[in-house]
Amino acid sequence: MKPVQSLNHIGIAVTSIAEQRSFYEDTLGAEFECIEEVLSQMVRVAFFRIGDVRLELLEPTSPESPVARFIEKRGGGLHHVAFTVAELPARIAELKSEGVRMIDETPRPGAHHTRIAFLHPKSSHGVLTELCEPIEE
Ligand code: ZN
Repeated sequence: MKPVQSLNHIGIAVTSIAEQRSFYEDTLGAEFECIEEVLSQMVRVAFFRIGDVRLELLEPTSPESPVARFIEKRGGGLHHVAFTVAELPARIAELKSEGVRMIDETPRPGAHHTRIAFLHPKSSHGVLTELCEPIEE
């Protein structure tokens, strides 16, 4: 496996971006970037930049969203870590050949000009792990 390149972002599940935004923006002083909707995940996502890393607040837009189910079970909080990789389809193939279970066997569109794939938490010791490949515009 080619190594992951950097920590891309940390995903945090929230019930309300509007209610929790001020903690990151005002209390911590993180730079707010934008809010995007990711239809495939049924979430609204707010990005904050801290150095080269982003925080991604994930607010479910439907009770069917995987993030809504996460909040129901665990009450929100740390949701996933995302690493930057190159050539995502090749990385997925390498992981599968190592016996790693993938949630996404093919890349899907992520927020903020990326394509992404999640590993299954059973294969990553309970830490939901996302691989994230920036797409050149
Ligand atoms: Zn993410």
